Amino acid sequence: MTILERKLFGPGPSNPYPEATSALGLPLLGHLDRAFVTLMDETCDMLRQVWGTDNARTLPISATGSAGMEAAFVNTVSDGDVVVVAVNGLFGQRMAEVASRCGAEVVTVEHEWGTPVDVDRVVAAHPSPKIIAAVHAETSTGVRSDIAALGAAKGDALLLVDAVTSIAGIELRADDWDVDLGYAGTQKCLGVAPGLAPFTINERAWERRVERPRSWYLDLGLLGGYVGEAGSRGDATRTYHHTAPVAMVASLHAGLTRILDEGLPAVWARHQAAGALLQDGLEGMGLELFAQQGARLPELTTVRVPEGVDSAAVRGELLDRYDIEIGAGAGPYAATVWRIGLMGHNARPDAALLVLAALREVLG
Ligand code: PLP
Repeated sequence: MTILERKLFGPGPSNPYPEATSALGLPLLGHLDRAFVTLMDETCDMLRQVWGTDNARTLPISATGSAGMEAAFVNTVSDGDVVVVAVNGLFGQRMAEVASRCGAEVVTVEHEWGTPVDVDRVVAAHPSPKIIAAVHAETSTGVRSDIAALGAAKGDALLLVDAVTSIAGIELRADDWDVDLGYAGTQKCLGVAPGLAPFTINERAWERRVERPRSWYLDLGLLGGYVGEAGSRGDATRTYHHTAPVAMVASLHAGLTRILDEGLPAVWARHQAAGALLQDGLEGMGLELFAQQGARLPELTTVRVPEGVDSAAVRGELLDRYDIEIGAGAGPYAATVWRIGLMGHNARPDAALLVLAALREVLG
């Protein structure tokens, strides 16, 4: 089967960094090989840097971002625990669903799609929740929420954050912002293929965790032995839990190395510049951006489909004529909004100009 080289300018996956792609072809190591243990240790060290945390328990969970979400809730929610979920898009809705399946009494705080989380309303929603949960970068709407403000206002609750689309794209400082636990994905600004969920949890959340979570695979207590208990180094403490996806961890290691060599502030600035170029260009074409001004993500732009234009037909033409993928809108905005991602390796001015030129051609 011939697979075309698409330009993945949708909401993810994005084209990986070349270093991450090359690493997939490295010789495979055994998952308990000393060399793999070192690779995993270094990967966890680098994940701490992109999370902005010193948490010993920081690891790549062997599954996609949604498994990171499940791990977060299944390890912290017991039947009847109150979980306040800020919902300003599809992934906030998913958090509420997952928390509820874990037995939580869920209190949702609904927001208009396209707007950021209102911290005052979220903290006022319940006097003593066990957890407050929010999405940092809502991929469904292209909106950034102020996690630092939520951390400052959360009181005694644990703050659980979805950083799938923010990690390694915009500023993320888990420790400074008082984030207690969070999960991410590899396929967006980290510039690696989908398949792992970078995860972090601090001591405070660890002490309040569920002793015997209903999920065996996602039990953080058992996963401690897999990556080394509480971040210990070397192979002495490693035990078999599941077969690590060795090639994916090698690829993540390569992607993280690429990012940290460039430097996180430079990577954030690159995303910012590419997003601004795209958003200015779209407005210059007379198109209307969807996300609220002041809360727009640079790495994921949402734009309204012009009146009378067939959203799916335009996306099809971009793909057929130029091998460019952009995304449809999410949920109620499926046919009326496009989502254009410039993430990781694609957060570059040439990518922004390419998608603008192609869109201009197709729209006529
Ligand atoms: N959370 C957010 C903000 C996302 O954008 C996504 C995926 O797009 C997910 C969670 C789920 O991640 P995955 O699709 O990797 O399971």
